[in-house]
Amino acid sequence: MTETLAENLTETQTQRTQALRPRPAINLDNSFFFESLTERGELSIQQCGECEELRHPPVPMCPECHSVHWAPKAMSLSGTLHSYVVMYHPIVPPFEPGYIVAVIELAEGPRVVMNLEGIQREDVQIGMPVAITIERMDETLVLPVARPAGEKS
Ligand code: ZN
Repeated sequence: MTETLAENLTETQTQRTQALRPRPAINLDNSFFFESLTERGELSIQQCGECEELRHPPVPMCPECHSVHWAPKAMSLSGTLHSYVVMYHPIVPPFEPGYIVAVIELAEGPRVVMNLEGIQREDVQIGMPVAITIERMDETLVLPVARPAGEKS
């Protein structure tokens, strides 16, 4: 009985490390965001073609001036921690319990959700400056990751 349990735990651990991250739901409005990451290593945000308002998450029409004209604009990859959660449950492979999901306020203003790494959760502080790197998670998925500003990635 004990052996079976131990075998099961080992299998679960293997599945967790081999699992791919969940895929983002890509549509016509947000495909530019993932293409910018994958093809140019850029974090791009929608910018209105009329009033130049930056908006995220992507939507078809500007909430300020109602224009449907827009273009992606590359951001500077720096920001501050606006909010975060430490995830314990439910844990979806390949994530491990205790990882940090953060809302990062970009230097340009828009807020983007991404993982916060390179810091112990006890040390996380709202408002702390972060640097964003564009990282390949697997063969097809490239995502932004935040780390405390000044830390090595
Ligand atoms: Zn506008």
